[in-house]
Amino acid sequence: MPVTPPAAPPDVSPAGAAMPQDFDALLHQDPEVAGILLAESGRQSSTLQLIAAENFTSPAVLAALGSPLANKYAEGYPGARHHGGCEQADAAERVAVRRATTLFGAEHANVQPHSGSSAVLAAYAALLRPGDTVLAMGLAYGGHLTHGAPGNFSGRWFEFAGYGVDPDSGLIDYAQVRALARARRPKAIVCGSISYPRHPDYETFREIADEVGAYLIADTAHPMGLIAGGAAPSPVPYADVVCATTHKVLRGPRGGMILCGAELAERIDRAVFPFTQGGAQMHTVAAKAVAFGEAAAPAFAVYAHQVVAHARVLAAGLEAEGFEVATDGTDTHLVVVDPAPLGVDGRTARDRLMAAGMVLDTCALPYGDARGLRLGTAALTTQGMDEADVARVAVLFGAAVRERGDAGRLRSEVRELVERNPPYPG
Ligand SMILES: *Cc1c(COP(=O)(O)O)cnc(C)c1O
Repeated sequence: MPVTPPAAPPDVSPAGAAMPQDFDALLHQDPEVAGILLAESGRQSSTLQLIAAENFTSPAVLAALGSPLANKYAEGYPGARHHGGCEQADAAERVAVRRATTLFGAEHANVQPHSGSSAVLAAYAALLRPGDTVLAMGLAYGGHLTHGAPGNFSGRWFEFAGYGVDPDSGLIDYAQVRALARARRPKAIVCGSISYPRHPDYETFREIADEVGAYLIADTAHPMGLIAGGAAPSPVPYADVVCATTHKVLRGPRGGMILCGAELAERIDRAVFPFTQGGAQMHTVAAKAVAFGEAAAPAFAVYAHQVVAHARVLAAGLEAEGFEVATDGTDTHLVVVDPAPLGVDGRTARDRLMAAGMVLDTCALPYGDARGLRLGTAALTTQGMDEADVARVAVLFGAAVRERGDAGRLRSEVRELVERNPPYPG
């Protein structure tokens, strides 16, 4: 992959970049777009990716994404398509479905949702009617947009009731969930969050759902990779429908998936196509199959457990740096901290971290209006960092937020750390 960038921005280092085989062709045909891709590759391999929803997918997954299946139309399902020439598309989808059901122990898998949000939309479409009441984690506590945000279809078309967390422990208050379920009689209960760092108690959610006759939808967009690697409990035995993304800890292509039992299979399939989507993205479906294959290997179980161990090291290190750690730690890849004890607000902290080369999001905190910081360890673990590296990240993190020490030196230490662990070596 010998690549000579034309007029690349100064911060670009193509070393460690994942570029497709025919990148040279793009470079010659369209230097403007090629330059953007090179710059993005340089950004990913010279700054530290702490965004909890991101990861580095494998060259094999990227190869499937850049494959001829990108050209194929395949509305429908294997054996029942609306287009001709679907033999290989059918084969790819059958492999993806077989691997997903085996990996997660589910009776049925739909691997066509274009994203996590599309998966949730289809789950609601399969089980609910507009106007139905749904109980989900409130947005202020870590609920996703699809859990009733006013600007999202969910908030527009359904009546959402939001449960929260205990203000002291930061943990889900199951007594409150039960009381809300009894009072509001929801048609569905959603468990899953964008920032809750602990495992939901799926068994208790199931009990509450049964008590009020509600469906239980588990939105495991974040921890699906931990579940695949045996590092988090599975909702499959408890939830009627499990929605997920394939690109977070699971480390596959950008996309969604749905798991359910045999009795809901047809409703879920029809809710994806033709109700909410048209033709499936077959190159992505093939890439999902590759990712499920990778996630079934013993090395992925090691990875998933490392991700959690690293998050615990990070949480302990940030606590030692003076941050307030939500729920006092983590069981997952997620760490949520409040920088207030350092005298800095969330947005200022994020900007200072960005200047030091550490990329992450702010998030809601379970109390008050201040913003916290949400970090994840999926990406840095993929690039081969060890516990000592992660402990160092916590120290650099504290120094950056406090603006302690020389900003240029901090930035170069972050750069050295990531360049020692390139996301795409070789
Ligand atoms: C990421 C996420 C989604 C949506 O995924 P997209 O692919 O961004 O649409 C849905 N629910 C939860 C809980 C998430 O964390």
